[in-house]
Amino acid sequence: MNIERDCPVCHGRSHVPFADERIDLERVSTLTYASRKPPEFMCLRLVRCSTCDLVYAPTPPPEDFLHASYAGADFDSGPEALAAARTYATALGPHVRELAGRNAAVDVGAGSGPLLPWLQDQGFASVIGIEPSTAAIQAAPPAVRSLLREGMFSASMLQGEITSLVCSFMTLEHLHDPGEFVGTAHGLLESGGAIAVVVHNWRAPLNRMLGLRSPIIDVEHMQLFSPKSLRELLERAGFERVVLSPIRNAYPLRYWLRLTPLPDRAKKLVLAALERFGLADRCFSMNVGNMLAVGIKP
Ligand SMILES: [Zn+2]
Repeated sequence: MNIERDCPVCHGRSHVPFADERIDLERVSTLTYASRKPPEFMCLRLVRCSTCDLVYAPTPPPEDFLHASYAGADFDSGPEALAAARTYATALGPHVRELAGRNAAVDVGAGSGPLLPWLQDQGFASVIGIEPSTAAIQAAPPAVRSLLREGMFSASMLQGEITSLVCSFMTLEHLHDPGEFVGTAHGLLESGGAIAVVVHNWRAPLNRMLGLRSPIIDVEHMQLFSPKSLRELLERAGFERVVLSPIRNAYPLRYWLRLTPLPDRAKKLVLAALERFGLADRCFSMNVGNMLAVGIKP
């Protein structure tokens, strides 16, 4: 049997139960490891760390299995990916304006690179997207594709770069070792440089209300953060002046509908009605329990 891992944020070993394992192997499809897919309400066994408040899977699947899954995952992009990038740009804007350096900006888990043109507009000397999925890179427009580097985030992928900003959106939940990730980012950043991450907040009211029916309860999530555990993660890596803020996600109504826990038949009926009234592509922004954290390397 697997040996339980420590809390991946504070390395504590004392925890309380959070969710039992629910995995239906018949439904584990290639789509499971693409982002923004319909929720499947499957999860690994989850516990809550009594020390830092992180919810995590103490016995996750092996790391090489995850790498292979992400590299081969079907790619799901289009209007939703663009809408997400606009949301992140809006949240990141004030922090980027305060940033002193304009050397490299790196987006980790960049997908088809929808945020990269915005980073270029902010005046960074170089803009780099790191993305493990070949399909995502192939789906990028040619001008953006040349900014994307294929693989998992590591210091060697950015050799020779002076980095002012490392950002990563909705990826920390998927990593075996989020502490290693922020430590690598800290090592790469110049003094005064910033890390910016967006994660789900399991303590947000909407997620607490939906409980185990929340879209954040998902087989691909190795851990789920709360404000306390996210702050702990960044401060342990050496980041200072850590600021947390809730973000409002703007998406077309047809995408919001996909996320709801309604049965498929009901979703089809509602979608047909939205399309009939020309509302399916109307953008609507809502606080759905995601948070941005920004920290500065002293
Ligand atoms: Zn902990």
